[in-house]
Amino acid sequence: MINYLFPLYRPPAEADNIILQATYGCSYNNCSFCSMYKDKKYQVRDINTLFKEIDILSSLYPNAHKLFLADGDAFSLDTEYLIPLLQYIKESFPKIKRVSAYASAQNILNKSQAELRLLYENNLNLIYFGIESGNDKVLKKITKGVSSSQIIDALNKTSSSGIKISATVILGIGGEKYSNEHIKDSAKIVNATTINYLSTLLLGIEEGDKDNFYKHFADFIPLRDSQIIVEQKNLIELLNPTNKIIFRSNHASNALHLSGVIPKDKSRLLSELEFALHVGEAAFVPSIFRGF
Ligand code: SF4
Repeated sequence: MINYLFPLYRPPAEADNIILQATYGCSYNNCSFCSMYKDKKYQVRDINTLFKEIDILSSLYPNAHKLFLADGDAFSLDTEYLIPLLQYIKESFPKIKRVSAYASAQNILNKSQAELRLLYENNLNLIYFGIESGNDKVLKKITKGVSSSQIIDALNKTSSSGIKISATVILGIGGEKYSNEHIKDSAKIVNATTINYLSTLLLGIEEGDKDNFYKHFADFIPLRDSQIIVEQKNLIELLNPTNKIIFRSNHASNALHLSGVIPKDKSRLLSELEFALHVGEAAFVPSIFRGF
């Protein structure tokens, strides 16, 4: 029996995969917009307990080929901890192809290039990374704890090791005042790195976190749905990556669901956004059906 400590978050793409809770909470746990792990103290779980959980999971799902390491930033774990864990996963799930985890810029920059390569060679070959914004003023106001240049360094270091990147940008996180800079600088990060999957989310701040959020971001003015669609359109217009990016805005928080490959589908995505702007509210997912 696996005793997950809830709430347990995983990216939408991991919905059908094995989840192994290697840590509890997030090692940083300080982004002002994020409430995911506010009630959980960060903790590295005992590796022998994880080995026992892997035994159970592998007896239930012997053919599993994808596994997600929870919680908020399992990439914070030391390489000396991760390697035996990954090796045990490989022995227990002979068909395993992909192990993934949420990772922050801090987690990545704390590891050497050789460590990243070693993790990749042991199947930790995909990270989920929240860019949130590429603008330094916005990053500071949301207390992300890193700068845009650190984000670029971390992403480039990751892709150099072979590890793939699934990244997110949060629409609306700059508010009205910083909307243009937020989008322009977020596109710059995508264009300066080698991201494989890109998604947009829509900012959603829980009631209990609003005081703290506004304490750091006093001039924040939320965007209306139509302004969010303009941000989405401007972001796609500015994307000129050197590689192929699979783009999705299918997270439950989004006002409009889009999917395509950039640059191939860029003009179709822009047409869909133009159409939504033309039609207005009727084209958006009703707000009662959205969640963060
Ligand atoms: S956004 Fe990510 S890094 Fe920031 S507190 Fe939430 S889980 Fe931690």
